[in-house]
Formats: sequence, structure tokens, C-alpha cells
Amino acid sequence: MKSDPMWHTLGTMSPLTDSHGRTKRKLRISLTDRCNFRCTYCMPEHPDWLPRASLLDRGEILRLAGLFVDQGIDQIRLTGGEPLLRRDLVECVSAMQGLRERGLRRLSMTTNASRIAPLARTLVAAGIDDFNVSLDAVDPVVFRQLTKREVAPVLDGIRALADAGASVKLNAVVVRGDNDGEIVPLLEWAMAQGLPLRFIEYMPLDAPGHWRRDAVMSEAEMLAAIGVHHRVETLARSSDPASPYQVDGRYPLGIISTVSHPFCASCDRLRLTATGELFTCLFSPVGTPLGTRLREGADDATLEAIVRRAVWLKDAGYASRPGPVERPITMHAMGG
Ligand code: SAM
Ligand code: SF4
Repeated sequence: MKSDPMWHTLGTMSPLTDSHGRTKRKLRISLTDRCNFRCTYCMPEHPDWLPRASLLDRGEILRLAGLFVDQGIDQIRLTGGEPLLRRDLVECVSAMQGLRERGLRRLSMTTNASRIAPLARTLVAAGIDDFNVSLDAVDPVVFRQLTKREVAPVLDGIRALADAGASVKLNAVVVRGDNDGEIVPLLEWAMAQGLPLRFIEYMPLDAPGHWRRDAVMSEAEMLAAIGVHHRVETLARSSDPASPYQVDGRYPLGIISTVSHPFCASCDRLRLTATGELFTCLFSPVGTPLGTRLREGADDATLEAIVRRAVWLKDAGYASRPGPVERPITMHAMGG
């Protein structure tokens, strides 16, 4: 490892870089660990919610977000849990607009969309640039098996976002034996709606002991299933984690294959949980308690130094140690 850059970069505008030479540009902020769904691949059936008082308030989120933007983060994604369960969501989005003059270029949201319909126009007007909506099946029975909830409100939410002129992408986690039969129907539904879709390989981030390698539908297997019905061409890769494809000569499809083709070597992301714990990797066994230090009264220079140190020490990632991670935090609390 190269020498620790914490002190000589402190207070400058140099970008957040780790010891593997990867610069961080993207931050995911979990607004809450609460969720109205129970996706089997994401959380335990009976989750222990974080104590309410431990969740960062709006001012704390804004202060930490600003600290990251000042250090070169230019894209923030609001996530959860389900961000729509945050009562002051619109106020959070409005407050973050002030970060644009400090360097924020994009503010996005990942949502299950089941509660978004009445708020779609407000969120677009408040300044969300684009939405990723999770939709793992169009068949109501399969959707219910995976999420323990109904698909109809999600489809209503997607329609409301489209009506509000929002930029929308669909994300679908594929779990063998659960929704692999939905790969082609989902693709054809998304093509008919004119909405880009990305399939995601099932990652070992759910309840301890739940993930199984043989439940992962690999990118190659998904392509084979699609290839029976459609012509699929491979496109040139960009910095996006999804491998890009073109279906039937016109439709853009992405596949995020973290398990079969980890993209750790180019990872530019950081994650902040709803309590302000900084995770430099989705698979890190432990986080850095930034929120706790903030509540203890740490000033910005101290918090910035903590962030720089944590980022510098970010390890190589999933590619270097594939398989389940031993830790008490699952995807719904980490912020996907
Ligand atoms: N509730 C929102 C939603 O579902 O879009 C935001 C939070 S959710 C944790 C963010 C993303 O993580 C979703 O697209 C979800 O499908 C994905 N995800 C959750 N658990 C996963 C797993 N084990 N493997 C792959 N993706 C997962
Ligand atoms: Fe909730 Fe999203 Fe996790 Fe599903 S994937 S349980 S909607 S946080």
C-alpha cells in the first residue's frame, strides 16, 4: 500500500481516491432502513429496524452529503430501505439542490415505486434527475412470492413517473427457481413500455445463510434465455457497472454481473447508511461510524479526514474474496 494521503490532502479539493487508484464519484445515501416490501433476496423476514433516534435527521444528512460533494462526489443516489417511507423525503430532495453549486451533477433515487404515484410530479419538480425502479417480475404471483407484496401499485408508480416526464430505468434481480422464468416476459414488457431494463445477478447480501451460489443466474445464462427469443448484440463497455447489450437491433439492455464478472477494479462508489455509517464497499464487513462522530461534535475537517482515511483503506472488493460476507447488516440496511 502507498503512503497514507490523509494529511497532505486534507483541506484541498483533491478527489477521494483509494490505495488501489480508484477515484470515488458516486455516493448512495440510505434515507431509512425501513421498507414496506419484504424481498426475500434483500432482508430477513422479520428485520430488526434500526432505532428511530439513530437515523440521521435532514440537517445531518445534508451536512455529510456536502462534505462528500466538496471532496469530488458528483452523483448522489437516494435509496434505502424504501426512500418513500421517509416522511421528509421531498424536503430532503429540495435541500440537496443547494449542493449543485458545490459540484453535485446528478441526484437520483432507487425505489420500489409502490408509493410513488401521488408524489411523482413533486419529486421531479423538487429535483430528482432520474429514478431506478425495482421490478423483478410482471407476473403478480411471481412478484408476490419474491417481494411478499402486490405488483399493481408498482406498475401504477412506473406509469405515474412516466406521466410526470421522469427518466426511469428498471432493475430486476434474478434468482434461479424464483423469477428466472420472468426474464423474457420482463424484457418484453420493458421493451413495450420503452423503458431501459437492467438484470442484476443475485448477490450474497441477504439474510445470513440464505444466499446460495446455485441460485445465481449468471449473465451468460440470462443471455442464453433471452437469445432463444431475441437477437442480442454485445455493445462496447463504458464506466457503467452494467454490461450493455442491444436487443433486436434497437433496445438497450444492461446486465450487472457482480458475481460472475465483478467490476471492483473500476468501482467509484461509496455508501452511507441511514445512521451515517460509511461503507466503502457493498461487501465490507464493517463500516466507519461517521454519523456517530458527527453527533459527538466532530468538525468538518475531522469528518473529512475520517472519510479520506476510510476511502484510502477501501479493500480490493468482492473480486478478491467472493462469497457471503459475515456481518450483521443486510442489503436493506446498507442501501443498495
Ligand atoms: N427499496 C428500493 C428498491 O427496492 O429499489 C431501494 C433499496 S434496494 C436495497 C436497492 C436495490 O438493491 C434494488 O434494486 C434491489 O433489487 C437490490 N438488491 C437487494 N438485495 C439484493 C441482492 N441480494 N442482490 C442483488 N441486488 C439486490
Ligand atoms: Fe425493500 Fe428494496 Fe429491499 Fe425490496 S429490495 S425489501 S423493496 S429495500
